[in-house]
Parts: sequence; C-alpha cells; structure tokens
Amino acid sequence: MDDTTAHTSPSHRERWREEIAAAVRDPDILWTRLRLPRLLLPAGRRAAEAFPLLAPEPLLRRIRPGDPDDPILRQILPLGAELEAEPGFTADPLQEAAQCAGTGLLHKYAGRSLIVATGACAVHCRYCFRRHFPYAGEAGWRSALEQLPGDAEEVILSGGDPLTLDDEALEEFFARAADHPSVQRLRMHTRMPVAVPSRVTERLLEAIAASRLPVVVVVHANHPAEIDDETERALNALESAARAVLNQSVLLRGVNDDADCLAALSRRLFDAGCLPYYLHLLDPVDGAAHFQIDDTEARRIAAETAARLPGYMVPRLVREHPGASAKTVITPRL
Ligand SMILES: *Cc1c(COP(=O)(O)O)cnc(C)c1O
Ligand code: SF4
Repeated sequence: MDDTTAHTSPSHRERWREEIAAAVRDPDILWTRLRLPRLLLPAGRRAAEAFPLLAPEPLLRRIRPGDPDDPILRQILPLGAELEAEPGFTADPLQEAAQCAGTGLLHKYAGRSLIVATGACAVHCRYCFRRHFPYAGEAGWRSALEQLPGDAEEVILSGGDPLTLDDEALEEFFARAADHPSVQRLRMHTRMPVAVPSRVTERLLEAIAASRLPVVVVVHANHPAEIDDETERALNALESAARAVLNQSVLLRGVNDDADCLAALSRRLFDAGCLPYYLHLLDPVDGAAHFQIDDTEARRIAAETAARLPGYMVPRLVREHPGASAKTVITPRL
C-alpha cells in the first residue's frame, strides 16, 4: 500500500500513524531542531509538564527554523507565559466537564448531539479550551450513540480529534449513527487534515462518500502557512467526498491578529475547497492568556478582514458562552 512503510514496518502501519508516532514530544528536541532561543527552554519544559508538547512532522515542516515568532510555532510552543495565572481564566471555561461526565455526550446545542469520541489529538494546540479536559471519564462513542436523545438531528463527532480513530471505527460510526431515525446529518470536527494530511486516506474518503447521511467536515486552521500543498490536496479530496468542508479558526495574538493574514487564510482555504465558517474569540482557558485579543480589537480586525473579501469568504466572529445553546455573534466594527 504505502511503499515507505510496507517493507520497513512489520505491522504495515499507515503513514498517518507513523507520522503521529514520530511527532516531537520532547521540548529539548523541538528547541534543537528549530534553533529556538535556549533562554525560553526551562520555562517551556515546565509548561509542557502541565500540557504536553505534541507536534507532528507535517506541521513542523511548515515552521521556519530560527524564528520564535513563526505563526505555526506559536500555536504549539510551550512557553513560560502559560504558567502565569490570569484572572478570569479557568481550567474549564465552557463548563463542559459536568455536562459531559461519564457519557462523552454533550447536548448543549439544540438538535445537535456532540460526542467526545476520544481525548487524543495529533497536535497539542496551546490555546485549546479542552487542554485540561478530564477525558478519562469517556464511556466510548458506541455507548454515547446508544444514549442519543430521540430528537437528535445531527451528530457531531468531536474530541480530542475523532480522526485519531481508525477508518474501520469511522465506517462503523457512520453506519450506526445513520440507524437513528431522527438523525439527518453527521459532522466531524478535526484538525487532522491540516496537521497530518496523510490521515485523509482513500478508505476514509470512500467511507464519507458512501455514508447514508451527508457528512460535514469542520477543519481547523488559523494561518495560511498551515495549508501547504499536501493539506490543499487533502482538503480538496475531502470536499469531493463530503457534503461540505468548513474551517474554524481562533483569533490568536501573535498568530493571526491581522486582517491581511486572515484574508489570505480565507483565500487559501477557498482554493483548497473549504469555506471559512467561524472565527472564535479565545475561550479563557488557564494557560492561554497570552493569546488573548480584546473585543474592541477583535471587532476591528474582523471588520478590516471583511472589507477585503467576498462575503462567502468571511468567517463569523463568535464567542462561546458556557451553557448557551448557540454561539454569540460579535459584530465587526471599525
Ligand atoms: C459551536 C460548537 C459546536 C456547535 O456548532 P454549530 O456550528 O454552532 O452548530 C460544536 N462543537 C464545538 C466545539 C463548538 O465550538
Ligand atoms: S482538540 Fe483541537 S484545538 Fe484542542 S489540542 Fe486537539 S487539535 Fe488542538
């Protein structure tokens, strides 16, 4: 199948599994490889003890060595700033842990049931609102599906990253979810096509295309440099198999807090067959305060971005409130 692994690996692991297995997890290796300032390393090591470093090879290849301000690096780089407590920033800013306890099923959005399929991801994003999430309580997606409410219209497979599940499990998920009489659509929230594009296998594409229910894939990229040629091919292939491929981004200080950058991201996504969906304000999770942008600046950046783009390429600026059944749309304003 894959000639780079077929003769070297007795287990014939797929390339995406090899790439995740080979991801950089040790701050010393990251610092050496990317020639980062040694001064930042001791605090970086401590930050990585609280939330481990995880950076897969395909993403690392897109980072400029020697530049601590690289916008992809900033998303994965453990920094001392994460260790500073900040008023208003908490471990579970969306208060999901209690709602989700034991079942791995979250009902907060009307008609949509969100299944936390796994705690595993292919990359650890330092700003992630689930960085402290107690995933150990999950009972598994199969039992979550059995507990779907009778009026669930849409099932959202989330995580962690549901594409860390293998193709066989996903085929089974598509089939079982379609057995529920009320369910009309399936959705997956995944960063994998961006972080490890080889995850978009032929078998996955076939499973999506063959699903009895339409599948919407929501990916996650924050900066145009994340979409290299391999990711562009993966997204285009997904677009051919799925009903829609959408992107969500988080507005992040030092990563994409600039209208030219966000407009370039939208164009890049469009070229890859993906429409910009949401631009999230940062959820105030402990350890991510250094990424925060206040509402006034966020509104201005969003207005400047919208002024540069056709309407269908403008993501909605939104904030998530704990317990609210929909996101709050924030109006762009110069
Ligand atoms: C907002 C949100 C949803 C629900 O998505 P809609 O696109 O608003 O229907 C599901 N999962 C996560 C993580 C979200 O932030
Ligand atoms: S859940 Fe998404 S945002 Fe959070 S660490 Fe995983 S890939 Fe990154």
